[in-house]
Amino acid sequence: MDKEKNGRVLVVGGGASGMLCAAMSAALGARVTLFERNEKLGKKLFLTGKGRCNLTNAAEINDFFDSIHSGRKFMYSSLYGFSNEDTVSFFEERGLHTQVERGNRVFPKSGRSSDVIKVLSQELTKKGVDVRLNTRIKKLLIEDGRCAGLVDRNGRKWKGEKVVIATGGLSYPLTGSTGDGFRMAEEAGHTVTALKPGLVPFNLKDRAVPKLMGLSLKNTGLKILDGDKELFKGFGELLFTHFGISGPLILTASEVLPKEAFERELTLHLDLKSALSEKELDERLKRDFEENKTKFFKNSLSRLFPSKLIPLMVERSGIEEDRKCSQISAAERLKFGKLIKDLTFRFRSLRSFEEAVITRGGVELKEIEPSTMASKIVKGLYFIGEVLDVDAETGGFNLQIAWSTAAAAARAVAGAEF
Ligand SMILES: Cc1cc2nc3c(=O)[nH]c(=O)nc-3n(C[C@H](O)[C@H](O)[C@H](O)COP(=O)(O)OP(=O)(O)OC[C@H]3O[C@@H](n4cnc5c(N)ncnc54)[C@H](O)[C@@H]3O)c2cc1C
Repeated sequence: MDKEKNGRVLVVGGGASGMLCAAMSAALGARVTLFERNEKLGKKLFLTGKGRCNLTNAAEINDFFDSIHSGRKFMYSSLYGFSNEDTVSFFEERGLHTQVERGNRVFPKSGRSSDVIKVLSQELTKKGVDVRLNTRIKKLLIEDGRCAGLVDRNGRKWKGEKVVIATGGLSYPLTGSTGDGFRMAEEAGHTVTALKPGLVPFNLKDRAVPKLMGLSLKNTGLKILDGDKELFKGFGELLFTHFGISGPLILTASEVLPKEAFERELTLHLDLKSALSEKELDERLKRDFEENKTKFFKNSLSRLFPSKLIPLMVERSGIEEDRKCSQISAAERLKFGKLIKDLTFRFRSLRSFEEAVITRGGVELKEIEPSTMASKIVKGLYFIGEVLDVDAETGGFNLQIAWSTAAAAARAVAGAEF
């Protein structure tokens, strides 16, 4: 490619997608400037995977799509163009060895997210990308329906033929993602869909909740209902906090449910003994109460539940705590069994963006060309990564979205053949 003829590519945001896009387009021959508002690159990337960076997921590509909830179809082209295997090869070829862990999650063998950032930073240097730190981009320069450059916070103009917005979402704003890209997209005439925190805990309404803080429940069934309508059903691990509930099951539910659902009066239904049918549970309770017949009800439950949960179960059972187990009727026992299989809490709201792993919503996908990430509204403008209305479950899928969309845009801005 003739570098002079093709002008300059400006990439806004030195996070996962921006770094890869800048490095790859430069490797394909483009002259590239990368702008990052922070004093260093990849602040969020550093935090990923609890500091270990779950950089992708080794699932079969077809299964991969099932884990993407918004933008599944949109991701087809870019994910086939730069797949999870390509991500692993990219990093392995540059000396970062990876390993596959539980749930097909791929991590650096070193266990350090900083090594992922190091590979990308070295690549930027090697390919001659002009990296501008401490440079916050404020505005797009649009002339005659095409992007002609950028203006930074100090009013300096940066001319460029192609502009890639890689500013991330709204989650963990301290890392630099405060939604500038959404604002710039709207100014360019793009639609930004409703923005909600994703992969985020829930606030609950019940006054019992603070007393449950720290309670961790494994192998628990969870249903989320809107009135009688079941919106979510899952099984796994839950964790009570001072405000409500978290844990992998809740984070998944926060990502899977339609965004509008969180405006409604939802209820959470926990099945504390999901391995047992109601009948089997009743037999178990009958046995337990017989063995403990001279004990108080409240003192007979330690084999059934963690101690933190017992006061709530006693309170909700309607059985006096100091009733002898021998005095509990069959009807009361059956009712107690139903409570164990359907312990209900009321949803209040999602926790804030400060605690959310990702942002749901973003630049409307109908306005973006899926094989190049080009804007269909403004020529020379591209969007990649979390700024787009694409999101997925935990497990390395969100970073793969960043890598795949970055690679698609890199080829397009460098004018490479597909
Ligand atoms: C705590 C945490 C853990 C996570 N762990 C994982 C994980 O293990 N695996 C996984 O797949 N996903 C994980 N994610 C999600 C993943 O980090 C994001 O999906 C991914 O970083 C998105 O990449 P991005 O390039 O779109 O945005 P970001 O990585 O957020 O990068 C955006 C960059 O743009 C910069 N910027 C913003 N505005 C401007 C501006 N106006 N001018 C200049 N620069 C600007 C920001 O400072 C930032 O550096 C995690 C997220 C969090 C919060």
